[in-house]
Amino acid sequence: MTNNTREMVRVRFAPSPTGYLHIGGARTVLFNWLVARKAGGTFVLRIEDTDQTRHVEVSVRKILDDLRWLGLDWDEGPEVGGDYGPYFQSRRLDIYNRYLQQLLESGSAYYAFETPEQLQAMREAATAKEGGFRYPRPDPLPTIEQGLAARAEGRPIVVRFKMPDENITVSDEILGQVTLAADQHEDFVIQKGDGFPTYHMACVVDDELMKITHVLRGQEHLMNTPKHIALQRALGFATPKYAHLPVIFNMDGSKMSKRDKDKAIKIGLPSPEIDVHDFRTAGYLPEAVVNFISLLGWSVGADREQIDLNETIELFSIDRIGKTNAKFDREKLLAFNTDWAVRLAPDRLLELFKDYITVNASVGPTFQSVVDRADDATLAKVLEACKGFRTFADVIRKAGFLFVPDESIEYDPKAVKKVLAKNDGEGFRMLEYLLPRLGELSDWTPTGLKSFFKAVCEEKGVGLGKVAQPVRVAVSGTTISPSIEDTLMLLGKDYTMSRIERCVAQQR
Ligand code: GLU
Repeated sequence: MTNNTREMVRVRFAPSPTGYLHIGGARTVLFNWLVARKAGGTFVLRIEDTDQTRHVEVSVRKILDDLRWLGLDWDEGPEVGGDYGPYFQSRRLDIYNRYLQQLLESGSAYYAFETPEQLQAMREAATAKEGGFRYPRPDPLPTIEQGLAARAEGRPIVVRFKMPDENITVSDEILGQVTLAADQHEDFVIQKGDGFPTYHMACVVDDELMKITHVLRGQEHLMNTPKHIALQRALGFATPKYAHLPVIFNMDGSKMSKRDKDKAIKIGLPSPEIDVHDFRTAGYLPEAVVNFISLLGWSVGADREQIDLNETIELFSIDRIGKTNAKFDREKLLAFNTDWAVRLAPDRLLELFKDYITVNASVGPTFQSVVDRADDATLAKVLEACKGFRTFADVIRKAGFLFVPDESIEYDPKAVKKVLAKNDGEGFRMLEYLLPRLGELSDWTPTGLKSFFKAVCEEKGVGLGKVAQPVRVAVSGTTISPSIEDTLMLLGKDYTMSRIERCVAQQR
C-alpha cells in the first residue's frame, strides 16, 4: 500500500444525481467543505453518473442549485472546471477501462458470465440455507479470451474483483479500527454488463486521480470501504483518510430517509421536509439550515450552537465528530431559523424572502400575487412588520393577504361570527362608523393610523380590540395580521376601503 503523502487537503462530494439533494447529503457536503476551507485545501464536486438515466441533467442542475442556495461553493467540478476533470464519471469511461484492463491482466479481476436470472436463482438457493449468499469464485477462473469472446457475442457479462483472502481494516478517523474478516469478503462487480464501471471502481479510480486526501461520507458506506481499500492496494493507489459520518435519525428513532415523505402522504400527514429544496420552499434560511446541520454529529459544546459559517470553519475538526447517531430535531431547527431571521442583515433577509417567493410562485397563487404586486421596499416593510416569524411561511400566512386580489379574500366564518356578527352585528357597525372617517384620513402612515385608532377608541370609550379587530377581519378575512397600522399602511388606502366595503356588503 502506498502511504498517503499528499500534502494539500483535497476532499470531494460525489453525489449520484437522482434528484434533489437530501439533507443528509447536505451534511456530507458541509463537513467536506469545512475540512477544505479550514485547511485552505480544495473541495471537489464530482458527479457519479454511471447509472445512466434520462434525469441526470435535471438532477445535476438541482444539486448545483441546492448547493448554491446553501452557500457551499466548490473549487473544482461542474461549471467551474479544474485540472483533474472531467468531473462527470460518465465522461471518464476510457480512464476506468484502462484500470479495469490492468486488474484483468494482473489477475486481480475476472470476467463472470452469470445472467441476472442465474444470480437470482443462486441467491434464492443460498438464502434457503444458512449464511446468506456470497458469490462463489469459479474455479478455474474464466480467461480473458473467454471473456472477450462472450462480449463479442453480445452477452452482458460483468467483471468481478478478486477480493484478497485476508482481513481488511479500515482506520476510520471517527470510528477507529473497523475490520472486515476475510470470510466476509465477496468478489464484487467492478464493471457492469453495460460496460460501465460500478460505483466502487469509478470511486476508487477517481479518488486516486483527483488526489483526494480525505473521504468523509455517510456511515452507510462503511462496508464499502474495505472493498475500496482492497481495490486501491491492487491498483497501487494511496488510501485516503476515511471518516464515516453518523447516521441521521428522526426524533422517533427511525432513520431519516426520502421514504419518510411517501410514508407521511400515505397516512394523510403533510410531507416532512427531507431534501434541501423542501427546506427552501418551506421558508427556511440557508444560514440556519447550515448551522443546524453542522451540529448533526459535530459539536463544540452545548453553549456554542448558533454560530455562523466563518466561525464554524474556525472551530471545525474531524476529531469532534461523534460516533453516535445524530437526531434531526425539527423544533430546534425552527428555533434556529427564528433566531437567524432576527440576526441576518435586512438586505440578506429580503434577498432570501424574494427567493422563497420565487421558488413558490409556480405552486401558489398568493406567491404569484406577491411577485406581481409587491416591490422590494414593500417586501422589506412586510418583513419588518412580521418580525419574530419562524419561517417565511409564517410571513406569508400573516401578510400574504395584502397582495391578493380583493376577490380572493376568504372570510373565516369563525372570525366573522366572533368579531363582526356578535352582539347583533357590533363589529359591522364599527366598520360602518369607520368607513367615512378612514376615507377622510390623509395621513396614511403608521403614525397617522395609530393616532386615528387611538382617537376612535377614546371617542367610543372602547379598547383597541373593538376597533382594530373588525378592520383586521374585513381586510384579511382572519384575525391574524401584522399590527393594524402596519397592515393598513402596507395595504394602502384604496384597498383598505374597498375591502371594508366589500366585507360589509357581503358578510352582513
Ligand atoms: N455516489 C455515492 C453516493 O451518492 C458517493 C459515495 C462516496 O462518497 O463515496 O452515495
